[in-house]
Amino acid sequence: MSDCSSDIRARRRLVDVGNVAVFAHVEPTKEQALKPLEEAAEAFGAWQLYDRRMRMDEATGIRSPQASELRDDLLDECADVVQASMNLASALGIVDFTERMRMCRVRNEKRGRM
Ligand SMILES: [Mg+2]
Repeated sequence: MSDCSSDIRARRRLVDVGNVAVFAHVEPTKEQALKPLEEAAEAFGAWQLYDRRMRMDEATGIRSPQASELRDDLLDECADVVQASMNLASALGIVDFTERMRMCRVRNEKRGRM
């Protein structure tokens, strides 16, 4: 069974993030600026665990329940990266990141990444 919205996203190569509520108290401090980096490191660590599990599952030919849990953990860490980044953007006075993401997309298109 296929999820129609997933099929559409796959064709358009988009990931909808939706509105991101930011933390109540954010300031453009070193601590705030380090948060996206910390969360990115956690995302990488989660990916390492997920990747190791997937390799083990491939070797045994058995899809373990841990693979699904580790995938969820990795996606949670990806969400933390977005949260930390938007907290920092908010600390810099940003309330609408749409145009910034459009400019990012244009840069990446020029670099042939999309
Ligand atoms: Mg985290």
